[in-house]
Amino acid sequence: MASNRAILDCYTDEPAGLGVPPFVGVWPRYVAGLYPQEPGYLTIDDLRLIRYVEHVREVVIDPVVGRTHIEVLNHTRSPDEIRHLLGSIDELIIVAGVQTPGKYLSARPGTLREVHKLLAPFRVRRILTGPVLVGGTQFRGGSAPQVPQASEFDELHPFVFESYDDLQPLALKGATLIQQMPHLENRIVEIETGRGCPREKGCSFCTEPLKHVVQWRAPEQVVEEVRTLMTLGAKAFRLGKQSCIFSYRGGDPHEIETMLSGLAALRPAVLHLDNANPAMIDERRTELFVRYLTPGSTAAMGVESFDPEVTEANNLNCTTEMAFEAIRTVNRIGGYRGENGCHALLPGINILLGLAGETPDTLEKNFAALKHIVDEGLLVRRINIRQVVPFPGTPLHEQVGRKVLRQNRRHYSAWTEKVRREIDMPMLERLFPLGTALRDLCSEVHNGHMTFLRQIGSYPIVVAVHERLPLNERFDVRVTGYMRRSLSAECIT
Ligand code: SF4
Repeated sequence: MASNRAILDCYTDEPAGLGVPPFVGVWPRYVAGLYPQEPGYLTIDDLRLIRYVEHVREVVIDPVVGRTHIEVLNHTRSPDEIRHLLGSIDELIIVAGVQTPGKYLSARPGTLREVHKLLAPFRVRRILTGPVLVGGTQFRGGSAPQVPQASEFDELHPFVFESYDDLQPLALKGATLIQQMPHLENRIVEIETGRGCPREKGCSFCTEPLKHVVQWRAPEQVVEEVRTLMTLGAKAFRLGKQSCIFSYRGGDPHEIETMLSGLAALRPAVLHLDNANPAMIDERRTELFVRYLTPGSTAAMGVESFDPEVTEANNLNCTTEMAFEAIRTVNRIGGYRGENGCHALLPGINILLGLAGETPDTLEKNFAALKHIVDEGLLVRRINIRQVVPFPGTPLHEQVGRKVLRQNRRHYSAWTEKVRREIDMPMLERLFPLGTALRDLCSEVHNGHMTFLRQIGSYPIVVAVHERLPLNERFDVRVTGYMRRSLSAECIT
């Protein structure tokens, strides 16, 4: 018997957890596990596609001139099949919530306004769930969040569970949903190892402490889910759904090794991590991650600011000294090149603009620290600069809202450009010297005659090749030059 419901994936991006293609988030899988019969799987791209088809006779998703239309690229079915599915269900469970907005190469998350508009012609019961229910959603940094209106949905339904023992059967059952996702061979599946923030009091801007109390998932549960997903066709995984992977089960090296060795024994093509609190990074734990992960992984550190006054005013997780120690440790242990052409494990740095206590001087301090990293000869895989979104319920929202953003915004773009020019460029040259061979990149999008590719993994570098390659295939390349936050290269296969 066919299911009378479907899941609409509008994609999610949270402080702990990513579900924007090519990442497969946990939310649609867990939600699917709630029902005896597997729901249909639709994406926001599907809704956009049928709307386009109504307005334009022929929709060319990947035109020869101009850019690939990433807003419909991740559609799951033909327009007729999408309409048929929407016409045959009673209930649509909408998964949404972008709370750490980034730049996405090959997908565009759906907004609440968009969902509301695109679903208007369909008579179907609408249930909203996902991170959006705690604080709202916003995929433009520095903007006010969109908060869901109960009147626009039939139900706002938080997906909650008491313990990981309760979640496990749902996670295993819902895993089959990935078989409805297009190009599964090129997707990377987000895996949850814990939830909540282990710090007594969280950072001012973060929604994670609002959502969950701290819980860690047992190593055997993590391994069991990955094994199940692999039998269904998944090959690449990221341990990204937790606030800090180095804090796993109190940071106990034995627990970390039990989980990692169990996962590595399954021999996934990619096993990466995300989210690391610099205060928890030490030699022993770093050695374990480097030993068991596949190369090219990034430990993204939420430093957020190198200005001590901002660190204190927002209760950020580490001092500048701690951040530097962590960066040095990861470099010492993970800074060698692996067989795919990338370093084994490198730090990533997150900088957040618009926090309480920020002044123009904060930008100078941030720049000086980044310059110090370059001058010391350290490697950093990427520097992520975002403008904060003050979500309701967070201390930042109550204390300053968007006041600091409004005061300092005029300085941001010149400062960011300076970082991209004076920090990123020398760092890219150091990370990927001319002639470096990078293996197994997936061709994701076109822009005219150019193809943009990435390895499958945590924060892979974007590589542009000056020829039009078929999409969703794998290529090896050799680095020929540098662009803004990306490389140019030529194919070697
Ligand atoms: S350390 Fe800060 S950013 Fe990380 S989960 Fe806790 S509150 Fe959020």
